Order: sequence, then structure tokens, then C-alpha cells
Amino acid sequence: MAKVDKITHVGTNRFGFDSTVDIDVLRSLYLAPAYIKQGEQTKEVTGTGHKDYGSESTYDKDTNSIQYTTVAKFPPVKLLPNAERKRILVTGGAGFVGSHLVDRLMLLGHEVTVLDNFFTGSRTTVSHWVGHPNFEMVRHDVVEPFLIEVDQIYHLACPASPPHYQYNAVKTIKTSFMGTLNMLGLAKRTKARFLITSTSEVYGDPEEHPQREDYWGHVNCIGPRACYDEGKRVAETLTYGYARQDGVDVRVARIFNTFGPRMNPYDGRVVSNFIIQALKGEDMTVYGDGSQTRSFQYVHDLIDGLILLMNGDETRPVNIGNGDEFTILEFAEAVRDIVEKVQKEQGNPLAKRVNIIHKEIPTDDPQRRRPDTSRAKEVLQWQPQWHVRQGVEEMVRYYSAKMAEGAI
Ligand code: NAD
Ligand code: UDP
Ligand code: UDP
Repeated sequence: MAKVDKITHVGTNRFGFDSTVDIDVLRSLYLAPAYIKQGEQTKEVTGTGHKDYGSESTYDKDTNSIQYTTVAKFPPVKLLPNAERKRILVTGGAGFVGSHLVDRLMLLGHEVTVLDNFFTGSRTTVSHWVGHPNFEMVRHDVVEPFLIEVDQIYHLACPASPPHYQYNAVKTIKTSFMGTLNMLGLAKRTKARFLITSTSEVYGDPEEHPQREDYWGHVNCIGPRACYDEGKRVAETLTYGYARQDGVDVRVARIFNTFGPRMNPYDGRVVSNFIIQALKGEDMTVYGDGSQTRSFQYVHDLIDGLILLMNGDETRPVNIGNGDEFTILEFAEAVRDIVEKVQKEQGNPLAKRVNIIHKEIPTDDPQRRRPDTSRAKEVLQWQPQWHVRQGVEEMVRYYSAKMAEGAI
């Protein structure tokens, strides 16, 4: 999978498992038709996507109200023979990554149950599937035991942005430890395959660069990020404990910074902050001098990697991320350029360039981060397909449509 200029499909056909889907079908699920009504006039603000799929919304400026219509038709899903159709549980399925995974698994023809407590996720991210015979949504907290019969578990439930996971640090640790324990207990009882979305944060503020899976990490166990970092580390420990002790079939994805549509615009992560600030013409906030680095992957690449990992044989942890590394200051400039380009194309350029300003750097902010993805390349034949710029542009269009329709 090399990077290509125009992407028409995502997914892969490997290990006897064809997971390809048309990107336009996916787009229609997160860029559903939206209209703005003012007086007698109604204007369409979201042009992409398939008119038949997903719900429509009309924002009435006069009354400041939004009207949703129910779906006209669900997108067609594959008709799988019983032996291939899996019952899949996605914890955290109403979150940013989870909702994209749910879209894919649904389109591929599986039976999907979303378990979520809606702490950071929202029902709107998957509402286009509600009512579909293959879909079920359950409000539940993973900290409590949960009984269901399933074949595969994608365990994502956990707040992921620093402001969210630090909001209630003790709850974050409980979610990581007790939530993972419960889902592993469930996997043990049902003999389901279990995949956990771990994180590059297990490497902490790394002393090795880029980070390989066999690097043990450099984590401050009492700092403000510890609830998340140590939570994920112990979740991995539990996962391999159940694998060794009880023979649970496990997969561990270590995800590096990911962005894309449906990311909560106010979750405080850098990509959403920069795009929203630039779109609104506000100052873009670079923390510290901006020399710290990150590498950003577009969400569709991550979903490809997760599905491949779940359906492949690799049981060791696998890094999934994009190797293109930016300083945060370079990234701010790139986002500003892309936002300006899209605004020009849409015929509403801002009167003046937004400023990039500096704010204090948060405690324990890792200085450098870039994945070594040779393992993913070797065992999953996976490589990112999206250039960061392509992803950012798609996300700018998404946020600007959401702003126009009154949802942001
Ligand atoms: P998100 O906050 O959008 O999604 C997390 C979901 O989990 C939300 O829907 C939330 O309501 C739910 N949740 C949280 N606590 C729960 C609980 N106790 N019980 C039930 N549901 C609960 O975050 P995301 O970016 O979609 O992250 C998903 C997963 O991927 C997380 O496990 C995260 O650690 C991991 N991850 C994400 C990134 C990234 O860059 N997005 C990077 C590394 C790892
Ligand atoms: N668990 C669950 N659903 C299940 C099976 C187990 O939520 O279908 C929970 C269970 O309540 C326990 C945890 O998973 O808190 C670990 O289960 P395990 O069987 O390993 O431990 P035990 O119940 O023997 O302590
Ligand atoms: N950051 C920034 N401005 C923002 C938000 C974040 O400069 O408005 C920086 C942050 O200090 C970090 C990087 O961007 O160095 C990535 O932050 P994020 O919270 O997205 O994820 P992290 O990788 O730190 O978990």
C-alpha cells in the first residue's frame, strides 16, 4: 500500500479477508447532506456523499433549531455466509476511532454491538446505523461486568485526549484496568479474539527514536499523563496475562497520533485545535516553542491496520502510525496553509492570516515521537496510504461543513 494521489478505496484484501470499501460510501456517513434554512430559503451546505444514505439535517437560522430526518436507506452491507459473519463487540464504538471501525465492520457485513458510556463519544457518530438489523447500541460502562455472546472484541473504551483523560484521572485508570479486565474475562468465557487499542504513550517521553515495539519506554508514573500511560501499560500486562494463563487469543495495537472526521472538535488534541482555530480565524496555539515532534496518521489507515491485525496471526504488540514526522510549529503552518486553500476554493477567504502564538508547554509533553512501523509492514503488509496533507484537507472540509450546518 503505497501513498497515492487519489484514493478511491480504503481497506485491504489480505489473509483471505477482503475489507475494501468505497471511500465515497464512507464519506457519505460522516458528511451526510445538511441544509441551512433562513426565511424562505434553504441552502445545501454539504455536497459530498450519497443522498440516499445517512440522515439529513436542516439547521434553521431563524429559530436556531436543527431538524434531523431519519435515514432514507441504509448503505448496502455485504451479505456474508453464516460461517463468515462474525458477532463483533466494539467497546468505545461511539468515539472517534470506534465509529469509523463500526462503519467498516457494518459495511463488511458483520453483526456489530457498540458498548459505550458516552463519556467522550456521542450517539450521533453511529446514529446512521440505528435500526439496522445487524446493529445494536448499548449504554454501559466497561468498569462494570458485561455479558454477551461474541466472536471478536475490539476494546477501545478509554478517553484518549489529554484534557479528557486528565479530567478524572482515577476513572481513567479504572477504565483501563477494570474495563480491560472485564473485557478479557468476557473474551475468556466466550473464546472470542480480543484486540486492545494501546498507545504510543506506553513509550512515554522516549529516549529511543523512532520507537520500536521492543522499546520498554520512559514513563513518569506519577505525572499528569500517568493515568493514561500507566493505565494502558497495565492493560497490556493484563492482556498478556490472560493470553499466557488462560489461552485468550489476543492482539495489541499501539496507536500513534491519529486524526480525522468525527474527532470531537473541542477535545483539545492538536489537529482538531489547529483546524478549528484556523477556520474561525482565531490564533493558533502552539505549546512551548513548537520544536516537539509528532507524526500523524489519518483514521482510515488506522482502521485498515486494526482490521488486518485482528484477522492476522501476530500476537505481539504492533505499532500503527504514520512515519512522517513534523515539529508542531511546522504542522501549525501546514494546517494554516491548507485551511487557507480550502477557504479560497469555497469562496470565503479570511480577511487576514491567522497568527500562530505560543502557550506554556504541558508537563511531561513528549519531545519526540515517531513510530517504527517495520513490524506492521512485515507481518500485516500494512503501510499508511494517506499523506498527512490529504487527511488534513479532508478534515478541514468536514469541520467547515459542520460549522456551516451549525453543529460546531
Ligand atoms: P474517543 O474519546 O473519541 O473514544 C473513546 C470512547 O470510549 C468514547 O466513545 C467514550 O465515550 C468511550 N468510553 C470511555 N470510557 C468508557 C467507559 N468507562 N465505558 C464505556 N465506554 C467508555 O477516543 P479515540 O481517539 O476514538 O480513541 C479510541 C481508542 O484508541 C482509545 O482506547 C485510545 O486510547 C486509543 N488511541 C487513540 C489514539 C488517537 O490518536 N486517536 C492514539 C492512541 C490510542
Ligand atoms: N466478566 C465479564 N463478562 C463475562 C465474563 C467475565 O464482565 O462474560 C468479568 C468478571 O465479572 C470479572 C472479570 O471479567 O470481573 C474477569 O473475569 P475472570 O473470569 O477472569 O475472573 P473471575 O471472575 O474468576 O475473577
Ligand atoms: N499541542 C499544541 N497546541 C494545541 C494542542 C496540542 O501545540 O492546541 C501540542 C502538544 O503540546 C503536543 C502535541 O501538540 O506536543 C500533540 O498533542 P496532542 O494533545 O494532540 O497529543 P499527544 O501526542 O500529546 O497525546
